[in-house]
Amino acid sequence: MTLDTSIQTIPRIGPKFQKKLKKMGIKTVEDLLWHFPHRYEDFSNVCPIAQLTLNEKCCIMGKILEIKNSRTWRKRMILTQTVVEDKTGAIKVVWFNQPYLIKTLRAGDGVCLAGKVSLGNDGIFLSNPAYEKLPKDVVRSVGANIPDSILTHTGRLVPVYPETEGLSSRWLRYIIKSLLGQFKNVLTDVLPPQVIKEHKLLPINQAIEQVHFPVSMAMAEKAKQRFSFEELFFIELFVLRERGKLAREKSVAIPLNLELIQKFVKTLPFKLTDAQKKSSWQILKDLEKPRPMNRLLEGDVGSGKTVVAVMAALNVFKAGFQIGFMAPTEILAKQHFQEVAKLLADFKVNIGLLTGKEDKFISKKLKREPIEISREKLLKKTKDAEIDILIGTHALIQDKVKFGRLGLVILDEQHRFGVGQRAKLCQHPMSTSDVDIGCQQTDRRVDIGCQQHVPHLLSMTATPIPRTLALTIYGDLDLSLIDEMPKGRKKIITKVVAPANRQKAYDFIRDQVNKGRQVFVICPRIEGQSPEESVSKSCDRRILTQKGNVLSWAEAKAVKEEYEKLDKEVFPDLKIEMLHGRLAAKEKEKIMKDFRAKKTDILVSTSVIEVGIDVPNASVMMIEGAERFGLAQLHQFRGRVGRAEHQSFCFLFTDSPAQRTRQRLRALIDCENGFDLAEKDLKIRGPGDFSGTRQWGIPDLVMASLTDLSLVEKTREAAKELLVDDPGLRKYPLLLKKLSRFGQRVHLE
Ligand code: ADP
Ligand code: MG
Repeated sequence: MTLDTSIQTIPRIGPKFQKKLKKMGIKTVEDLLWHFPHRYEDFSNVCPIAQLTLNEKCCIMGKILEIKNSRTWRKRMILTQTVVEDKTGAIKVVWFNQPYLIKTLRAGDGVCLAGKVSLGNDGIFLSNPAYEKLPKDVVRSVGANIPDSILTHTGRLVPVYPETEGLSSRWLRYIIKSLLGQFKNVLTDVLPPQVIKEHKLLPINQAIEQVHFPVSMAMAEKAKQRFSFEELFFIELFVLRERGKLAREKSVAIPLNLELIQKFVKTLPFKLTDAQKKSSWQILKDLEKPRPMNRLLEGDVGSGKTVVAVMAALNVFKAGFQIGFMAPTEILAKQHFQEVAKLLADFKVNIGLLTGKEDKFISKKLKREPIEISREKLLKKTKDAEIDILIGTHALIQDKVKFGRLGLVILDEQHRFGVGQRAKLCQHPMSTSDVDIGCQQTDRRVDIGCQQHVPHLLSMTATPIPRTLALTIYGDLDLSLIDEMPKGRKKIITKVVAPANRQKAYDFIRDQVNKGRQVFVICPRIEGQSPEESVSKSCDRRILTQKGNVLSWAEAKAVKEEYEKLDKEVFPDLKIEMLHGRLAAKEKEKIMKDFRAKKTDILVSTSVIEVGIDVPNASVMMIEGAERFGLAQLHQFRGRVGRAEHQSFCFLFTDSPAQRTRQRLRALIDCENGFDLAEKDLKIRGPGDFSGTRQWGIPDLVMASLTDLSLVEKTREAAKELLVDDPGLRKYPLLLKKLSRFGQRVHLE
C-alpha cells in the first residue's frame, strides 16, 4: 500500500463508505491521511470514579461488572446499562438506543469511557459516554499509567473531524489510526530538509501522527504549524513558478505613445489624481515589455479605475492591436460600453458590445450613436480586427469569439471571476480554445512573431485584497494601487437603523427625494443563512452570480416584496422601480436608463448593482438585511452613492441583535477605507469567504494561517530561496509531483 493507493483497496472500507468518502474528495490513502481533524476533545485526564463531579465531562477507566439491555415502558427506548468499577469505586453507565453494545462490551472487559456525569433517581451515572475496549493485557493493570497510543476514542486528546453525513469521527479515527499504523515512519518528507531545519518544523512522520493523535495540545499545535507551513509553501512555490512561466512567455511590446496619452488626458473633464497617474504609468510601462503583463489594478469604489484602463486600451489600439474588455454583468458591460465610447469619442475607435443577449457596435464614422448588428457580423469584425475594443460579459470567452490581433485583455471587478477563469486567462490566455491571438493575419505575422503570443492582462478590482492573500493566492499578479479618491468627494454618512427607527429613515429618504436626489434599496436573498453563519452558503451565492445573471428566484421574490411594500405602502407618491436578475436584458437596460435619467426616484435591487454602476445623482443607499452581506460587499454598495457633490448616506437596516453583527456593521461606520475593511473582514469572518480561497482546496485546519502575515512571508521567502537554488526543482521530484497535482486542483476548480 502506498499513499496513492485507492481507498477501494482498503479492506475496512466498504462500497457505502467509499461513496461517502469520494463525495468529500477523498480518493486515496493520502487524501485520508490528510483529512485533518478541526479540533480535539480533551479526554486526557482519567479520573478515579470516587472523585467524579456532577455535570462535568470526565473520563474513567475500569472493568465492566455487568451489562444488560432493557426497554423503557413509556418511551419505548432501549437502554443498555452497565456498572463499571475501578480501584476507587463503581458507577452506573447508560446508553440509549445502542442495543448492539452488549455484543461488543461484556462483563469482565476493561473499558475506557468518556462523557458527562448526570444525576438520576438512584444516584449519579455516566450518560451515553464514548467508549473503548481496552486490550486484555491492559486490563490487568487498569489504573496504572496507560500509554496514549493504545487509546483512540477516549482517555486522550481525541480528534474530531469536520462533520459529514454518515461518516462519524469515530469511524474516521478507527480507519485513520490503522492507516497510520501501516505508514509509521515510512513517509518521505516533501519539504526539503533544510527548510524543515531552518523553520523548526516537525518532520512529516511525526507531524502526521500528531495532527491526528497528539500527545499534547502543544504537539497538536506544532503539527498544525507544520501543515500550515507546508500548504502555504506549496501555494507560494506554485504562484512563483507560474509567475516565472509567464515571464518566459512572449507578448507584443506596445510602445508608449506619450503624445497620444497627453492628448487623451486633455480631453478629460477632470484632473487625474496622482494615484491614477502613477498606476497608468506602471501599466503603460508594463505594456512596453515583450512579456505579458499580469497586473491587478486595485482601487476603492469610485476611485476612477475605468479611465486608467481606457488609457491603456487607447495606447494598445494606437499600436494596432485589439482589446478585450470583460465585465462580470451585463449591466456593467453596457455601462462600460457607453463610458468607453464617450471617453474615446475623439479617437476614431471601433467599439463592440457582446453580451449574452444582444450585440451593439459603434462605428468610428458614426461617432457615438451605437448601431445594432448581428452576432455573426460582430464576430467576423472581431476576427478581422475591425473591432478595436470588444466589451462584453463572459460571452467574451466562448470558443466562437476569435480576435484577429488581440493585444490586451481587461478584466473588470476581477474578484467576481473564479480563480480558474482568472488562471485560464493568465496562464494560457486566449491561445488555446478561448480566444485566438492574431495569427490569421499574414501581413503582421512577421511583426508579432505569431505563434504563442500571450496578450497582456489588466485586471481591476474594488475589493481590496488583504496583504496575506495578495502574497499567496494572488501572488502571481503585479499590483497597482489607486489609494486616493478624486478631489471633492464627501464622506458618506453611514448609520445602522434599528427596526424602531425605520419610519424616521423613510421620512429622511422622502426628504432627499424631494430635494431631487435618488435612492438605491438593496435586498438580500431571504432564505438561507447570513454569511457569518455559513461561509459555504455565501460562496454558493457568489458562484450563482458568477454564472452570468442566474440569480435565484428567492432573490427576485425578495426584491418584489420589498418593491411592493415601498410602492404601495411607504412611498405611494414616489416613482419606484425594481431590478433583478430574472428580468429580460431589455427591461433591465430600460430600468437603468430611466434611473440614470432621473425618471425614477427609488430603485429596489438585488446585489446586481453591487459592481460599478454609476449614478451620480443618487445620494441614499439603503440596505435591507445588512447582516447578510460581507463588509467588503457592503462597502461596495455604499460606494454607489457619494459619486458627485451631494452629501450622501448609507443606511444599514438590520433586525439582528447579534453582537457579532453589531461589531461588523460598526466597523463599516468607523471605516471608509476599503483596505482596512477587508483586513477586518478577514479577521472577523476568516479567509474562507474571500472569493477564490475555497477553490484552492485549502484544508480548514490550515485556512486560518492565511491570515498570518508573518507565516505567509516566511513561506514566500523559503519558496523563493528554493527556486533560486533549483528553478526546475530537479532535486525535489516529490515536491514537483505534489505541485503539479496542486496545479490541477486549482485550475480545474
Ligand atoms: P471605479 O474605480 O469604481 O471603477 P469609475 O472608474 O467608475 O470608478 O469612476 C467613478 C467616477 O469618477 C466616474 O464617474 C468617473 O468619471 C469619475 N472620475 C474618475 N477619475 C476622476 C478624477 N480624477 N476626478 C474626478 N472624477 C473622476
Ligand atoms: Mg468600475
